[in-house]
Amino acid sequence: MHQQEVKQLFEKNKALLSGHFKLSSGLHSDTYFQSALILQYPQEAEKLGAEIASLVQAANIQIDTVISPALGGLIIGQEVARSLKTRALFTERIDGKVMLRRGFKVEKDERILVVEDVITTGLSTREVIALIQSQGAKVAAVASLVDRSAGKVDFGVPKFSLLTLEVKSYKEESCPMCQSGSSAIKPGSRKER
Ligand SMILES: [Zn+2]
Repeated sequence: MHQQEVKQLFEKNKALLSGHFKLSSGLHSDTYFQSALILQYPQEAEKLGAEIASLVQAANIQIDTVISPALGGLIIGQEVARSLKTRALFTERIDGKVMLRRGFKVEKDERILVVEDVITTGLSTREVIALIQSQGAKVAAVASLVDRSAGKVDFGVPKFSLLTLEVKSYKEESCPMCQSGSSAIKPGSRKER
């Protein structure tokens, strides 16, 4: 599946929108990605998960277990694990701290694939990596549906992404779209519906 096909699939499902958006971070952006709008279709989610799995397999990287941060990475992580025939665990954020709960355990030297829906700054992914390493397991690679950092984020392990985008975001006071008179919409907000 080429980047262009992935992009078209996202656009068809309105998961990838172009316009003038106010992100949850408060920044304004010309692109908005809502992975839930594509992952709501299990057949599409399964297909995308298989695509990610095949990238990892093509690189000859052995994976024992997939770990994804909830909620965003949960569905795609499950589908990647289905394709790789591994377990699918998820981390949760409790009082600001990323944790493995529900009795999930990783073994020493277990080879982990971290699966995200979107990588923007990579900060949350780094927290998941630190957690896995603190348990003695090994992060073999990181994969995501979308890399919004234009591939710039580096985790020190191989990284795979179905779609790499360079997304521009601006502070409100320096947003060129605001300056040209348009107003930002908050995607997924009540108002928009
Ligand atoms: Zn703006």
